[in-house]
Amino acid sequence: MILFIHRKDLRIDDMTAFDYIRNRQTVSLHILIIDPHLIMDGREKEHSGINFMRHVKRLKGLYAASNKKLYIAYGDPSAIIERLLQSHPIEEIVIQQDFTPYAIIRDHSIKTLANQYAVQLTGCIDHALIDFGGFQQYAGRTEPYRVFTPFFRKWSEYMHTFFRPPSSASLRNLEVHKSEECSWLDEAIPFDLNDYQSAEEPSEVLEAFLESPITSYHENRDRYAIDGTSSLSSSINVGAISIRVVYEAILAKEQAESWRRQLAWRDFYLYQSLYDTDYYRYEKKYDLSALSDRYWDRWHQAQTGIPIIDAAMTELNLTGRMPNRLRMVTAMFLTKNLQCPFTLGEQYFRNKLSDYDNALNRGGWLWCSSLGFDSAPYFRIMNPVTQSQTHDPTGFYIRKWLPELAHLSDKEIHLPQKHAIVDLKASRAEAIEVYKKLLGTKKA
Ligand code: FAD
Repeated sequence: MILFIHRKDLRIDDMTAFDYIRNRQTVSLHILIIDPHLIMDGREKEHSGINFMRHVKRLKGLYAASNKKLYIAYGDPSAIIERLLQSHPIEEIVIQQDFTPYAIIRDHSIKTLANQYAVQLTGCIDHALIDFGGFQQYAGRTEPYRVFTPFFRKWSEYMHTFFRPPSSASLRNLEVHKSEECSWLDEAIPFDLNDYQSAEEPSEVLEAFLESPITSYHENRDRYAIDGTSSLSSSINVGAISIRVVYEAILAKEQAESWRRQLAWRDFYLYQSLYDTDYYRYEKKYDLSALSDRYWDRWHQAQTGIPIIDAAMTELNLTGRMPNRLRMVTAMFLTKNLQCPFTLGEQYFRNKLSDYDNALNRGGWLWCSSLGFDSAPYFRIMNPVTQSQTHDPTGFYIRKWLPELAHLSDKEIHLPQKHAIVDLKASRAEAIEVYKKLLGTKKA
């Protein structure tokens, strides 16, 4: 018997692991473990946790509709797996591999356990479009790409030749184990999944996007007042839709280049998270002690007095969404104008973003704080007022999220208010000096 553990792959189609299990022609026991470490501090009630739980609920429904059993357990993964190894004739454990620092430690414990019970542990890699090892080999690189443009050029070539279309294997092709002996698995969750609404169907979100806005995506993606992007990230990042399915759908589309490029950005951050050995430790590589949390509360409470910042933070706090352009503007404002360590903002987004993903979120924060590969130069600091005037001239977005400012004219609405916590020009000049010094503190 195979023990298959769902992770950030909350779907039943186009799964490398399912292909593998089908080829092994053996029965499999399917579980999903809600790990207390990953939902500590009430994260199940925050937008990122809620999105995950909504997709867990959807997955449970997909299993039920296929007449298969998915056990949903709560607890320490190693302890749960050990109990199953003791009670079931499990010969192999199959997982989707994850490469965040926590996941590496967790999987190391699982590997030790598997060795102890003489059981094979098989990791499938399924979250990116390219196979990273194969890509490095194809590119003839020993060093990783540090800059996006050459990466993208090679990525496009590689995808042209090696894109692996979605697989036809699905849950329906597997013989899934169900038994009374496993019922304890379902009993431990300390909250009720029924309290969550099932997540939307990702294929419908994709279809809706492909029907129209993709043709004007390149013009609209930064016009955040209109919904010009796909809104797929919260499904993609929990694996509710396979990234190959998404990619295949755009292959037939004209004018999809600009959107395809964003999928390449996603791969580029996932690639960096594997090949940049400092990716998860930049805060240890540089001396950030010149930065402080002085304005931290005002930023996350949407009380900076800079309308576009407060509007974007209000949207995030209320809905778990924030358009990409505004993620850049708010993150740069926090790290540069307010001189706050990026780690605070990163941690805040971890809870608040519906589409939170550790590697992608860190990539965005590193870019904005001028750390990491191909990040924004330290002297390039977005001016939130100019950004607002350029991308939403009538201030529609600010009016929507800050109705108390709706009476202002199109000209006034973008401007800092009387109580703004910093002067944009002075804080920009200061930040340039501080970051110039900070970037010189890199430890070996
Ligand atoms: P679309 O514009 O329709 O793009 C399609 C897909 O391409 C997205 O779903 C996403 O998978 C990928 N993509 C688009 N833009 C980017 C980008 N800049 N970087 C990497 N991939 C991209 N994205 C996350 O998915 N999770 C995060 O936790 C996250 N945190 C971020 C934090 C900061 C500070 C910044 C600046 C960006 C962050 N992003 C994150 C990237 C980006 O903002 C979102 O992917 C995008 O807003 C999702 O909206 P969409 O699905 O409508 O994207």
